[in-house]
Amino acid sequence: MKQTIIVIGGLAAGPSAASKAKRVNPDADVLLFERGEHVSYGICEIPYYVGGTITDVEYLVPFDASKLERTRGVRAKIGHSVEELLPTKKRIIVRDLERDKVVEFSYDKLIVATGSSPRKLPDINVSAKNVFQLKSLSDGMAIERFVSEKKPKHGVIIVGGYVGMEMCEALVGRDMKVALLHPEALPLSGLEEETRRAVLAELTQNGVDFKPLQNVKQFVTDGEGYVTKVVTDQASFDSDVVIVSIGVEPNSVLASRAGLRRGTYNGILTDERQLTSDDSIFAAGDCCEVRSLITRRWMYIPLGTYAARQGRVAGENAAGGHTLFKGALRAIAVKVFGLEVAQVGLSFAEAVEAGFDAVKVEVTSDSMVRYFPGNEEINIVGIADRRSKRLLGANVFGGRGSVLRANLLGFAIQHAIDADALFHSDQIYSPPFAPLWDPVLVFAGELRKVLGDR
Ligand SMILES: Cc1cc2nc3c(=O)[nH]c(=O)nc-3n(C[C@H](O)[C@H](O)[C@H](O)COP(=O)(O)OP(=O)(O)OC[C@H]3O[C@@H](n4cnc5c(N)ncnc54)[C@H](O)[C@@H]3O)c2cc1C
Repeated sequence: MKQTIIVIGGLAAGPSAASKAKRVNPDADVLLFERGEHVSYGICEIPYYVGGTITDVEYLVPFDASKLERTRGVRAKIGHSVEELLPTKKRIIVRDLERDKVVEFSYDKLIVATGSSPRKLPDINVSAKNVFQLKSLSDGMAIERFVSEKKPKHGVIIVGGYVGMEMCEALVGRDMKVALLHPEALPLSGLEEETRRAVLAELTQNGVDFKPLQNVKQFVTDGEGYVTKVVTDQASFDSDVVIVSIGVEPNSVLASRAGLRRGTYNGILTDERQLTSDDSIFAAGDCCEVRSLITRRWMYIPLGTYAARQGRVAGENAAGGHTLFKGALRAIAVKVFGLEVAQVGLSFAEAVEAGFDAVKVEVTSDSMVRYFPGNEEINIVGIADRRSKRLLGANVFGGRGSVLRANLLGFAIQHAIDADALFHSDQIYSPPFAPLWDPVLVFAGELRKVLGDR
């Protein structure tokens, strides 16, 4: 009999799962439900659309529902919200939002890819006309439209995480004075202090007014429903537009109500096949927690890179194949104006907390041959374990090429390559791209000394 595979969620993990399932079992009926208006678009590019680097929103939407059906054989239904999972009957309840009609569908295998939602500021109503959270294409289009129409002068961004960094650049690029309110002393919580100081310097140099140790208490609204001031426990800030980017949390309530096991971060827990605690239900993407490749502990790392790969794994396994997603390292980067900033693996604090005998090593070196035009500094802050001599994590920040060096270090961490092997790895020397001693080799050499290998 024809297999029915239902996928809930149409952004990154969902379409990836649905397409893979259809490729593995072309006879299956693969049905995808998305409650929003769009499927499979480029969410990560949206800050660059708001800032004007990407000029046409059409570039961000490579697929619509009909193209997904035509090219991938996946029947995608937008404007359909899944309201309940009934695992014992292997059915789901779906609301067609346009017709306000509820219909039940049955499945053989279900893939939950419901993603995440923006965290809310406690006790603050963010429904004013000039307050935005950025989590969907519709959000991005609304911000762009507002900025184009109202030409705001003062932007307030709460807080200085990854999306906050990107939105600083976007709003400065739209000629705004930007105040960035952050609860800690330095931006980008979770990175090493050396990195965070460099990020602060770059923000300041580009005119962003970074305000540390701010806890937002109130939005002052005018008679027309616009927030005119953001009040914190320290001061108040003029605002023509406010961007609230305080992180996301997993959309796992449906799954939890259906009895699927969740973890400490409220994400759905799966095995390496992306199978949940119900043997007909898979899950993938931001709605899930993920195991650290280093510590095997559960973490919550909502990233598109994991969503797409977990989606493929869930799709293949739901369609009868066998493949695994073994865990995540944490590999993340952000552009802060002219600075490339990347993190791979554990932070120093996480390494200590996980029981490693952690040591931190910092080097600064050249991205190219020193006198070559375009040469910039690349800084590596690496974290290693004294006992096993294993590299556990790294921050890389600086000029062009920092992020690609971070990828190389990430690979070394993932495959437990020690400092000595890294030092002897064959790295390209070519004046326009890399100096004779690549920053990664300089770092590995220093790490060998610190670990007592040389
Ligand atoms: C501005 C921004 C920049 C980013 N930049 C990067 C980056 O550079 N690199 C990176 O790796 N990651 C980045 N991310 C994170 C990345 O976008 C997410 O990790 C990824 O989108 C997660 O995909 P997902 O499919 O699991 O979840 P989501 O993207 O949250 O999608 C879930 C979808 O499911 C739908 N849905 C939820 N519940 C239901 C329901 N009950 N019924 C029907 N549909 C439902 C939602 O409407 C949504 O479309 C960025 C995120 C943002 C917001």
